[in-house]
Amino acid sequence: MRVGLIQALVLFIAASGAQAEEATVHLLPRAESSAALTGAAAQGYYAQLQLAEIRAKTALPLKDLSLDEARIAAIKAYGAATGDFTDDERVALAEAVESMQPVLSARAPLYARTPWCFIKVNGTIEGSLPHTRGDCIVLAEGVLQALAKAHAKGKFDHPSGVWALLLHEQTHVLQRRNPALFAGLYTDVFGFRQVEVSPPDWLKVRRVINPDAPVVEWIYPVGKDAARHWVLPDIELSELDHPQMPADFKVVALGVHELEGRRWALDDAVMPATQTDLERVADYVDAFPVKGEAFHPNEIAAEMMAEIITGVRVQNPEHPLWARTRQWADGALR
Ligand SMILES: [Zn+2]
Repeated sequence: MRVGLIQALVLFIAASGAQAEEATVHLLPRAESSAALTGAAAQGYYAQLQLAEIRAKTALPLKDLSLDEARIAAIKAYGAATGDFTDDERVALAEAVESMQPVLSARAPLYARTPWCFIKVNGTIEGSLPHTRGDCIVLAEGVLQALAKAHAKGKFDHPSGVWALLLHEQTHVLQRRNPALFAGLYTDVFGFRQVEVSPPDWLKVRRVINPDAPVVEWIYPVGKDAARHWVLPDIELSELDHPQMPADFKVVALGVHELEGRRWALDDAVMPATQTDLERVADYVDAFPVKGEAFHPNEIAAEMMAEIITGVRVQNPEHPLWARTRQWADGALR
């Protein structure tokens, strides 16, 4: 959706350095934030959510509600969770973006040209985790308070942690705006393949939709020779009655096989199903330098772009995927 057309606070920040582009920052007021989180463009997200997952993401009991009723309750809860930024939060975010702008202009002009949009929410949705919706980064008040505190203490003098957070999230915005560009990274550089896999019922009720990676159809080859097979990384709930986010999330590798062309199926159509912890699939884990956020190419890319652009906190710097990904970024992020 287009954000910030009316009433948004727009700050044009002149970045230092003659060549640096100006950064545009929209800090959405509450009403616009609610519209961005629950308006027509956001409806696809809620249409994917299942009952247990809505409980995890909103902590609503949803007692005796149908799935349709629960989705409506979720939309209401997300819309009600938004808030207005405090002055301290505005200044901290503006300064964080401003401080990055010369680096972005030099190393990733596509990021330098992309507007920044922020939505503030309270701690009642998505486990207070930073995420994105449309063109906006959604930050919980706890995160914003920590940012404002760090800014007040002068901690932005060494802003790599703040930059890493913001660049990770902004990468998800860019992925949404440039799907074909990033698909090339996932297939040609990372080695994923994009297929169509319809989730069986047992998976549907357990799957957790990541708002930053809602399309779960990227499969990856593991094993050698006759043992070679493909897995689908996914996030599931380990507890369906009263799930907590993210404590009851587990990251798994699901076996998949080809049906015909792009159509693939899960090896396990019914329960009990084999759900291997992704971190126990050595071929997959070893294929990527980033750990902990490797369950979807969108997340791998977000981690790697943040580390490539900032040049700090680079995980496993000797890993061969860094050179190939840097080469991609040099061309793609112009
Ligand atoms: Zn992410």
